[in-house]
Amino acid sequence: MTEDWRARLLQGARSLWLVRGETQLRSTYWTPEFGYDGDAYKEICWLLRDVQANKSFAMSLRLLDVLCGLQNWLAFNGVRQPIVINSGYRTFATNWRTEGAALNSRHVLGKAADIVVPGVPLARLAGMASLFGQGGVGMYLNQGFVHVDTGEERIWIK
Ligand SMILES: [Zn+2]
Repeated sequence: MTEDWRARLLQGARSLWLVRGETQLRSTYWTPEFGYDGDAYKEICWLLRDVQANKSFAMSLRLLDVLCGLQNWLAFNGVRQPIVINSGYRTFATNWRTEGAALNSRHVLGKAADIVVPGVPLARLAGMASLFGQGGVGMYLNQGFVHVDTGEERIWIK
């Protein structure tokens, strides 16, 4: 496989449909005409905030692209569902309190998200994420989510 299919998944405007708790967000954060939309980016960063500390962070643009590419890939396969966010940015204090979190977690760098997509098995989501994202992918079977980050390529199952 070439880079081509990855580029194709991000062709045109880039949007995200995210859900976190009661909040649902559909946001187009990049268009070919105007590039990044600062307001849309801030909205997404706010949804991905550390909810315990109520702090948002400038999230990695690459992470947004990974989530967008995954969502587009699922849409090509007939799955039109939001990405449910379990965790995005974490302050060091929150990360410290998070069970099983690595001390050098990419969540504290704004480069990771823990996600679920309704109706999509974790293994399928993790497989797509590792092929498309080319970063870290962790499958948390008991907790029922997939961790994706933009660090070096690695895969783990817990
Ligand atoms: Zn995580």
